[in-house]
Amino acid sequence: MNPVNRPAALPLICPVCGRALAPAGNTLRCENGHSFDLAKEGYVNLLLSHKQADTMGDSKEAARYRRDFLNRGYYAPLRDALVQRLSGQTGRLLDVCCGEGYYTAALGTIPGLEVWGFDLAREMVRLAAKRGGAHYFVANLARIPAAEASFGLATLLFAPFAEPELVRVLEPGGRLYLVVPGRRHLYGLKQAVYDRPYENDEALPQTRTLRLVGRERIDAEICLQGQADIQAVFRMTPYFYRTAPTDRKKLDALESLDTEISFVLAAYERPDGSV
Ligand SMILES: [Zn+2]
Repeated sequence: MNPVNRPAALPLICPVCGRALAPAGNTLRCENGHSFDLAKEGYVNLLLSHKQADTMGDSKEAARYRRDFLNRGYYAPLRDALVQRLSGQTGRLLDVCCGEGYYTAALGTIPGLEVWGFDLAREMVRLAAKRGGAHYFVANLARIPAAEASFGLATLLFAPFAEPELVRVLEPGGRLYLVVPGRRHLYGLKQAVYDRPYENDEALPQTRTLRLVGRERIDAEICLQGQADIQAVFRMTPYFYRTAPTDRKKLDALESLDTEISFVLAAYERPDGSV
């Protein structure tokens, strides 16, 4: 077959040998015969150890908790801001550490974007694939099974800044959109729990290669309704594990809680010739 007439290749590569993966029935296969089954939800597990996917990352319960919370729309201001920011762009986007796909699926509604998402936790990816809107796979951020320069766009929400891998998969001139919690994110929740609430430092990661080209804030006020939602948002934060049981109990008496939510959305560009 003339290579010019071949359909656009997948951006994914074999995690065993690094060759390109191509669809073959219900699997993705490389030319060395390594093959990876598509799950019935349509995602593919590209972690080499299947045990890993069950035991690493978030548990099944945490994945469902997160999905149910996000479905109630409290973080819609961030989702909508991302969709607005990315609208009008075209090509392939990689949502790194996509979780259960709340943001990924929304990005997938943008005309002209082909969205891919991955996470380390298989249950997160399974739930994401049920949302649809994108192609999903299970993989580790430390070794993304995607070809060099295979994405023009990437998003990284509340996930570790693994710069060498992010740079590798981005095209020269490609853009990374990164979200970190803003200074007053969940401040109302902290006021309810701590005697001396503190603000986040809003620090953006240090970069060696990427160039910061934009930075904006997304702020909103939300009212968490009921114990289930108050506890759910608290569990999603890193503070949950650092908070003394006596302080955690302060939330038990609340029926609703007003709080700010706040995010910093930063845009980076991979300069030409940076690798
Ligand atoms: Zn292979």
